Amino acid sequence: MREFQHGLQKKNYYMIISVIIVLMVLGVVVDNPFDSRFVIHGGMVFIVAFCLLLYPLYENAGMRYTTIIASTVYFYSLFYLYPETWSEFILLCFVPALSILFFDKRLFYFSLVLNSLFIGFTFSYIAIVDQGQTYLYIYADIAGNVVNFFASQIILYFIFHLTNVRIQKQRMYYEQVQQAERLKTTGQMAAAVAHEIRNPLTVVKGFLQYYEADPELNQSFKKNFSLMINELHTAEHVISQFLAIAKPDEDKMKDSVGIDTVLNDVTELLKSYGMHNDNSIELSVEEGCFIIANPIEIKQLFINLIKNAIEASPHSKAVSVAARKKKGVVRIEVMDHGRGMSSEELKNLGTPFYSLKSKGTGLGLMICYNIVEKYGGTIKFESAPGVGTKVAVQFPMAH
Ligand code: ADP
Ligand code: MG
Repeated sequence: MREFQHGLQKKNYYMIISVIIVLMVLGVVVDNPFDSRFVIHGGMVFIVAFCLLLYPLYENAGMRYTTIIASTVYFYSLFYLYPETWSEFILLCFVPALSILFFDKRLFYFSLVLNSLFIGFTFSYIAIVDQGQTYLYIYADIAGNVVNFFASQIILYFIFHLTNVRIQKQRMYYEQVQQAERLKTTGQMAAAVAHEIRNPLTVVKGFLQYYEADPELNQSFKKNFSLMINELHTAEHVISQFLAIAKPDEDKMKDSVGIDTVLNDVTELLKSYGMHNDNSIELSVEEGCFIIANPIEIKQLFINLIKNAIEASPHSKAVSVAARKKKGVVRIEVMDHGRGMSSEELKNLGTPFYSLKSKGTGLGLMICYNIVEKYGGTIKFESAPGVGTKVAVQFPMAH
């Protein structure tokens, strides 16, 4: 992910970086004689500053890792160069905090591990070689310092984890809002176009039907009429389905809908359709499943779901539909043992015009998502290629 797409973010980054660089430079020049220590310290400041300044130009993982390694080495060199400054040890505890700035999970774990390795080495050096000569404040209570160090790493981990979860959620939400906005505008435009196309189509179809019925017209002239009428009919069907989604329908009547009646009506209606493939529909509905919705829309929802299940099923495999009450909700499951879907296909469900069928419109599920959302319900797909698909729809129960 690129973080510096906006000029403002870049400006903020450079502002923070300049403050950090000024602080680092002050650390070198204030109260420091010009000796080998000065040179090493200055060199390290230069390398870290260089990495930080270069990062926005090459915003990649390599650059991030180099920056973190350089900063870790920088803090440890300060610790070794200035043993008399005991507060340096606190900085070592917070080295991984730097990687939080990049919001890269792997980088953060890498930094935690790297810091633990460095501190392991440092503590061993103090315990075995130094033995309190220069680092008495650590040597005097080495166990306590080890515990404190690990406690600080755990605190950092929690800070990172919690912020990361929140940021991920926000990012997802932002993407969804953007997607919804895009759909809304394209949807509105497409609806306007669809509406304009429907009228001429109806006129052309009407005339074709009229000529087809005319006995005076020569039969060879009419031979492709039924094909043309059929195609126009398909086009009309696509447009009506599309307009059903795009049209604002706040005025549609809401009522207490018995799932039992709806499912019975729908299966009756689809039976003729299902029988093409000899697929029976096994219905099992618990008594008293009522929801508040528009009955026509709920029928439309289940027609779409059950029709998809039948279309996906092989010859004579049954499709089962079950409805149950469960803790204030009504749950309806439509299950088939058909072709199933891959995770890639599942991700695309509900996208307008996404269809893998030669005669599909790819609008059915979009209508379903709209209806379910409208009545505060949820819809979930579980599917495996070659095994089948289970669609679970849940609505708040009517009391
Ligand atoms: P259409 O049925 O017109 O293709 P839908 O929006 O109803 O449009 O469905 C979109 C696509 O989702 C279908 O083309 C199909 O590939 C897939 N799909 C939906 N339901 C199922 C199912 N039960 N089993 C397998 N694939 C399905
Ligand atoms: Mg469909």
